[in-house]
Amino acid sequence: MVPALLFALVAVLGSSCIAVASPVVDRAANTAYDYIVVGGGTAGSAVATRLSLGLPWASILLIEAGPSALGEDRINIPGRKGSTLGTVYDWNFTTTAQPGAKNRVFSVPRGKVLGGSSALNLMTWDRASAPEYDAWADLGNPGWDWPSMIAAMKKVETFTPSAHYHGSAGIGTSGPIKTVINRFIPAQQESWIPTLNGLGVPLNLESLGGNPLGVMYQPSNIDSAIYNRSYGANGYLTHAGSNLRVMAGTRVAKINLKKQSKKSQVATGVTLQDGTVIQAREEVVISAGSIQSPGLLELSGIGRRSTLDAAGISQVIDLPGVGENLQDHIRIQTSFQLKDNFTSFDILRYNTTFADEQLRLWRTGELSMYDYTGSGYTFMNWAAAGSNSSLLLSLARQAVGTSTSPVDRKKLGFLSNPAIPQLEVIFSDGYTGVKGYPAPGTPLYGKGFFSLIAAVMHPLSRGSVHIHSSNLTVPPTINPNYLSNEHDIQAAVEAVKYTRKIANTAPMSSLWTAEYEPGAAAVPETGNNDAQWRDFVLNTTLSIFHPVGTCAMLPRDQEGVVSPSLVVFGTENLRVVDASVMPVLVSGHVQTAVYGIAERAASIMVEDCNRRRGGGRLV
Ligand SMILES: Cc1cc2nc3c(=O)[nH]c(=O)nc-3n(C[C@H](O)[C@H](O)[C@H](O)COP(=O)(O)OP(=O)(O)OC[C@H]3O[C@@H](n4cnc5c(N)ncnc54)[C@H](O)[C@@H]3O)c2cc1C
Repeated sequence: MVPALLFALVAVLGSSCIAVASPVVDRAANTAYDYIVVGGGTAGSAVATRLSLGLPWASILLIEAGPSALGEDRINIPGRKGSTLGTVYDWNFTTTAQPGAKNRVFSVPRGKVLGGSSALNLMTWDRASAPEYDAWADLGNPGWDWPSMIAAMKKVETFTPSAHYHGSAGIGTSGPIKTVINRFIPAQQESWIPTLNGLGVPLNLESLGGNPLGVMYQPSNIDSAIYNRSYGANGYLTHAGSNLRVMAGTRVAKINLKKQSKKSQVATGVTLQDGTVIQAREEVVISAGSIQSPGLLELSGIGRRSTLDAAGISQVIDLPGVGENLQDHIRIQTSFQLKDNFTSFDILRYNTTFADEQLRLWRTGELSMYDYTGSGYTFMNWAAAGSNSSLLLSLARQAVGTSTSPVDRKKLGFLSNPAIPQLEVIFSDGYTGVKGYPAPGTPLYGKGFFSLIAAVMHPLSRGSVHIHSSNLTVPPTINPNYLSNEHDIQAAVEAVKYTRKIANTAPMSSLWTAEYEPGAAAVPETGNNDAQWRDFVLNTTLSIFHPVGTCAMLPRDQEGVVSPSLVVFGTENLRVVDASVMPVLVSGHVQTAVYGIAERAASIMVEDCNRRRGGGRLV
């Protein structure tokens, strides 16, 4: 069936059971709901849907600042991934100038649309190693470990069986998000696995089961029936009960709190940007993401006194961890010019006739380049990458210094555990670097490239995100402290050096004619090139857009913000459910963990509610 038509049908069917397809519900419908979820993103869509199904008697309101965009091609077509960055669907945040990275300002894209960042992301679908989730329990969160997280993460997905994935480890079969190992595999990617095997990296065709080390195919969140992105809005929300209302295009300004006792506040509801107050009879959930959940707490008077004072906000709850503990993966990459007998994804940028034909194929459900998302990955520890792991560990110890932070200590532990990946490399067809695709009229315009994107899995830099004004529309101050210590710089150097090593290993070495970025002129291939690599790292390292940790699930006296039930300390019924609660960043890409957090949160909330009510509604 024509994908666009089928998708329209899915959207319409969805609209018959919930209010999702009509973007903005009638604001006057109610002035009070049992549950209010703030932020209809990745976690917010999932938690609101599960609450609606688990508590069919309850009324649930999901409030999302961005629009509903179920029919948006730039979101739906896998091969258009990245085209929404910088658009109306993106909050377009930026960091402060990063001294560790030559004072560069990094962009911090975040979804501003129903589905949130799950609508913008690059659709990599994977998981970290089991001990990394166990670490959350070790950090003071009983019940948050690999067994509970894999059970929750499996509830999220329906994986399309594939010859490229053996067995069933780590795979979900009946969840709302559809995943598939992409059917479009460029010819040049065929060299990926043999090349990594040649470097001693074993094949791992069960990488979602708790051991991601090796070289593999990995899935994307794509509905294989229609080759459409599967995400929070079209995945979860279309399964919700009719007790869920979705208010899109509406921004929450603050959470309203009422003193319950000397030590405790109750969330009574939310105030919208236009001043409208909506009451919550049971609970308020903040799912505004790692960049904005802390700000919403701060705007509501929850946070560090000095931050609130500086913004002119009266403190209601003293919680110094709000907005701290910001962690992110850093990425760096190299690109190579393919021999002319290969066709790369770049053709879609310079050959409009070809691109139109590929788009037509996508729309008629046939194999198309617009199906494309990456599927070639490798994860390894530093020793497997041939790096000096003891030097990196010693630099890590220096970076952590005398810090007593349990998060820093845990990260050091990660570096000493060979079962935990430290480096990821993605085979990415087409050019995706920093220098830019060759401009029209230059000799390389019209050539094809491939890129090897490396990501450092456990950088030690931690930073913060805070509001600095009581005005909701002033963007937060985001300071991830990228490359602020020698460990992270050297890790990025090792990572990028390894990508060049991969490209120069057979059979991959036979595919290309020249290294385009950085290129031998910028970083010589022989001799001592350490200074040039370092410079390349400082000039081109980017984020891979996985900020977590800013409302951390940690003990209160260790800069924690939420309890293991995700309740904000000092409150009785205000929870945070999104990427910000992860206490320590895990390897791989984080969306599966974010959805898993939402699944677990919903189960906890439903259980709590049923226990409290004992059959009757709580008032
Ligand atoms: C460009 C990009 C590429 C990525 N690629 C991948 C990938 O390939 N694989 C992967 O696993 N992960 C990837 N990630 C990361 C992953 O998508 C995110 O970590 C995850 O989606 C975050 O989910 P969340 O629920 O915490 O926040 P979000 O999904 O960002 O949801 C927050 C929502 O809250 C809304 N909101 C904020 N403030 C308010 C307010 N005051 N009132 C109402 N609504 C509000 C926002 O508009 C947004 O919809 C990527 C992220 C980005 C941005």
